[in-house]
Amino acid sequence: LPVVVIAGRPNVGKSTIFNRLVGRRQALVADTPGVTRDRKEGQATVRGRAIRIIDTAGLEEAAPDTLYGRMRASSESAVATADLVLFCIDARSGITPADEHFANWLRRQGRPVLLIANKAEGRQGAAAAMEAFSLGLGAPLAISAEHGEGVADLMAEIVDRLPPTDLPPVHKLTRRDRRVLAESAEEEEDVRPPGPLRLAIVGRPNAGKSTLLNRLLGEERMITGPEPGLTRDSIAVMLNDDEGPIQLVDTAGLRRKARIDETLEKMSVSASIEALKMAEVVILVLDATLGVHEQDLQIARLIEREGRCCVLALNKWDAVEDRAETRQAIRDRIETSLAQMRGIPVVSFSAMTGAGINKLLPTVRRAYEVWNRRVPTGALNRWFEMMVSRHPPPLVDGRRLKLRYITQAKARPPTFIVFGTRTDQLPEDYQRYLVNGLRETFDLPGTPIRLLLRASS
Ligand code: GDP
Repeated sequence: LPVVVIAGRPNVGKSTIFNRLVGRRQALVADTPGVTRDRKEGQATVRGRAIRIIDTAGLEEAAPDTLYGRMRASSESAVATADLVLFCIDARSGITPADEHFANWLRRQGRPVLLIANKAEGRQGAAAAMEAFSLGLGAPLAISAEHGEGVADLMAEIVDRLPPTDLPPVHKLTRRDRRVLAESAEEEEDVRPPGPLRLAIVGRPNAGKSTLLNRLLGEERMITGPEPGLTRDSIAVMLNDDEGPIQLVDTAGLRRKARIDETLEKMSVSASIEALKMAEVVILVLDATLGVHEQDLQIARLIEREGRCCVLALNKWDAVEDRAETRQAIRDRIETSLAQMRGIPVVSFSAMTGAGINKLLPTVRRAYEVWNRRVPTGALNRWFEMMVSRHPPPLVDGRRLKLRYITQAKARPPTFIVFGTRTDQLPEDYQRYLVNGLRETFDLPGTPIRLLLRASS
């Protein structure tokens, strides 16, 4: 992994920067015992790229007369191996002799340096930071690690300065790979069509779909069916909120009654299929007082299979007693039965009273954004390299499978292609490892994620 070293005199905020970059969640921090008490190491994923971060802190107790020496001693070995040095100064206290001394030394080490002026809150701080130009290490980047200001810029700057990964960029794909890509992109519509978001409401009979529909439309605009002579299927129901129109599809299917030869159970599934085909986002309505039934899972599976984006609606929330427990139980049941529903957005409300209903459409829109998301190829491959090096694919018949690179072929739902040798033998659990990683790293909760495997020449 590329190594990023944080250096600078005591109290400039190195540890805070370290914590910002490593984060609590991904921290693998160990205070190295013994000789190098002065450094802290962690692993971080910065913009999809895995890096090792070394904090050369711990100098705080040093006596002033030994300060220069100790700063240097503790940093020397770390800086020697660094792919990038983050040299920090304190914008509030200005440039000190120790900063100058260290900068002079650092300039002679021949490692790439990014100069950081920390504690530069607000506009005043940014102005103070400019003083650091005088150190001769290039333009200072003003941040406030404590307040989180400029941290995103810092991450971008770090990634820009790291050595490139050795994965081929997409323009180096072979001709055959490119053809595969083009074909996969054509398989389904990819570009967001003009016009309203198309939304379907599905669920078992009596879950409260019609009540929800009427609630969404507002009491005064209750739909009572089409004008005589029109078929029910021809009604287009539009919702409007501040963010633009949403078209409810298959409102007819919502109101259809079972034919004599159909059981109610069968009907709700077949009605759902029709609605799904027309929709982009699907609200799966459950009667929360009843928990999750096999048929709900069946409908959820359909939504996943069709690659639609799903929001789970827990209706009749007014009648639920232990709310926290119910919510968790339902989510667990859905997620354990359907791996692809991990992180699915859940909204609980009462369609009858209207309580909580205002969260529904914003959640629908957020889910729609995720479903349409495109992950930049660079970030994707940096992430991929990290995943594969952390956990290489297993041996198959004594030979290692090679995974070369990944690209997003399309959105709606997010669909990725992994190129490599003998990818047809990539085990399911490894595919799941990649899919779960994509979901977490690139923030793709609740949407189906497709992973296509291609053998590349
Ligand atoms: P659909 O078959 O899914 O369209 O279900 P309906 O909308 O016809 O509702 C089925 C039954 O559940 C009706 O008796 C509704 O009054 C009732 N219901 C719907 N929403 C709620 C709710 O939020 N709370 C409660 N307590 N009952 C509800």
